[in-house]
Parts: sequence; C-alpha cells; structure tokens
Amino acid sequence: MTFTAKLKANDEQGRLAALKRYQILDTAPEVEFEDIISLVKTVLGAPIAAISLIDSDRQWFKAISGVDVTQTPRSIAFCDHTIRDGMPLKVTDATRDPRFADNPMVTGAPGVRYYLGVPLRSPDGYNIGSLCILGDTPRDFSDDEVKVLQSFASLIVSQMELRLVSRHDTLTGTLTRSAFDARLKSEFESRDKTPKALLLLDIDHFKSINDTFGHATGDTALRAVGEVLKKNLRETDLIGRYGGEEFLILLRNVTPDVALAQSERLRRSVSQLKLAELGGRRLTISIGLASYTPSVTSIEDWLRRADKSLYDAKHAGRNQVVAA
Ligand code: GH3
Ligand code: MG
Ligand code: MG
Repeated sequence: MTFTAKLKANDEQGRLAALKRYQILDTAPEVEFEDIISLVKTVLGAPIAAISLIDSDRQWFKAISGVDVTQTPRSIAFCDHTIRDGMPLKVTDATRDPRFADNPMVTGAPGVRYYLGVPLRSPDGYNIGSLCILGDTPRDFSDDEVKVLQSFASLIVSQMELRLVSRHDTLTGTLTRSAFDARLKSEFESRDKTPKALLLLDIDHFKSINDTFGHATGDTALRAVGEVLKKNLRETDLIGRYGGEEFLILLRNVTPDVALAQSERLRRSVSQLKLAELGGRRLTISIGLASYTPSVTSIEDWLRRADKSLYDAKHAGRNQVVAA
C-alpha cells in the first residue's frame, strides 16, 4: 500500500479525528513499529529515530530509540513543524536555525543538531505525525536518504491501517472479540478507579429472523443493531462483536445507575428500529449488565456476572436489561 493522498492542511479537528481513529495513542510498544525504527536507525546511520504522533498538545512516541522519553509538549516538537506541510523537514544544524536554536532539546539533552522528518499521512490526507531521525552533530541529507525515510513512513502508515482493519469486525465495524479482550485486559490491569460497567447483549430470537427472511437479511439486521449501538455510545466506550449475534460493551466512567439507564436506552433504541427488509417485524435485545465493583476478582469473573445476568434476562422473557 502506498498512500499519496493530497494533504488536507488547516483542518486540525479533522486531523485529530484521523489520529484518534487509529486508537494508537498511549498504547503499549508493538514489535512491528519497534522493528521499523531499528531498521531506520541502521539504514540511515542515525543515533535516534522516532515515530511521533501529534496529539492536540503533545507529541507522543509510538516507537522511539536512542533516547529515553515517551512524549513531549507539542510546543517543542520538531515533528509539529514537519506535519504542517507536505515536504520533508531537513534541519542540518539546529543551532543555526532560528526555529530550533532555543529548543530545550537543542540547548540541553540530547543536544539535537540534525533532524530529518517526513509526515505520516493517513489515506484520507491528514498528517497525523511524522517519522524522524535525529543526531548530535550537523549533517546534510541526500535525496536518496530522504526517499528511504519516506518509504519507511508509508510502511508505518500501512502498518497502522492493517492494525486498524484487523481489529474490527467486517460486518458490523465493531471491535473483534480478540481486540475487545485485549482492550478490556489493559483496562482491567490499569487499576483505573473510575466506575465502569460491562454489558453483554444478545439479539432475541435471531435464528427465526434468519429462518424467516434469509441469512443476508439477518446480516443487514445485525449491521443495523451495530449502528444503533455505535450511535448511542460515547467515543470512550468500547463495543465488540463477541459472538454471532452477541455484542459486549464496556461503558467507561458510569455509576451503576447511569449504566442501567444507558442499557435501557440501548434496548429501547433497538426495539424502535424499523427495517424495510423485516416488514413490520421488530428486533429486540436482552442485556446482562455487570458494573465493576471491588468484589470482581478477574475479567473472567466480571464476564461471568454479565453472562449470568443475560441468562436471567432471557429467562425472564427477553427484551429486557438485568443487572448483576
Ligand atoms: P435467543 O433469544 O435465545 O438469543 O434466540 P436466538 O435465536 O437469537 O439464539 P440462537 O443462539 O439459537 O441463534 C443465534 C443465531 O444467530 C444462529 C445463527 O445462525 C445466527 N447468526 C450468528 N452469526 C450470524 C451472522 O453473522 N449472520 C447472520 N445472518 N446470522 C448469524
Ligand atoms: Mg446468542
Ligand atoms: Mg440470540
């Protein structure tokens, strides 16, 4: 994959949305990106290389080698200059460049002298960050060196796209089960104290939808339910397709009362869905809700509670929410 989209400059909101779509900020190191950085250093003979992503007020490094830092304020980021236009940014001696001579990374450690950065451009044209090399002696760059760095940058964007696609279910666009599990695990292990809740949700009598209208219409219904969920949840919530017609949702920052109200809202919204393909037939869902409490001992325990509540909701007649 090579992306040659025209740069959309001067659309900071769009740029930030493009970055957020990758869901990569503040994630753990990943070997694919580490490997690229290490290759870049070797091929271009640089002591420092980094994949810098430019968030609203900071640069955060998905991978960095040669200096021990995970993020810096955006105001001192060389890479913030790189993303402003479509061109590679070459700084041969930072002490002689008025933009950078006073930069703390130049006046202090790591004593940056040269910098070469190329933008990481999303397929829809936003510069979300840059790939760069830095060193502590002045240096010129050949056209070939710039081209090499540009090739690595497009490899990084391809990797980010693949990472994004592989984590989403193709039918509904929600997270795959394994991607959801991974996110849930890191959420659980972060020991973050904000209240949260897990919702296990299953479409009622879905087999009969398939039997009556056919599998393709079943797919349409499944996609429509996924859309309702996405529309009704916040960007900070997680939705995953957990099985055939089952979804798992993590609500962040919700008290048990709010989680219950939110679940009811989802249930109601699905029941109000009108699909031409289903004639007059309505879809309903059952939801098992398990708020996180200190008595939850593990992710498995937490899921078991949601599953038990879902079972109770089904047995109580479906189209309802049961809280653990
Ligand atoms: P209940 O109310 O107890 O949940 O009844 P149900 O019919 O929904 O439950 P059951 O587990 O018996 O059936 C689920 C059905 O979902 C069976 C399966 O064929 C269908 N299904 C699973 N994945 C897909 C899919 O991707 N597309 C379509 N069209 N159907 C699917
Ligand atoms: Mg089911
Ligand atoms: Mg079902």
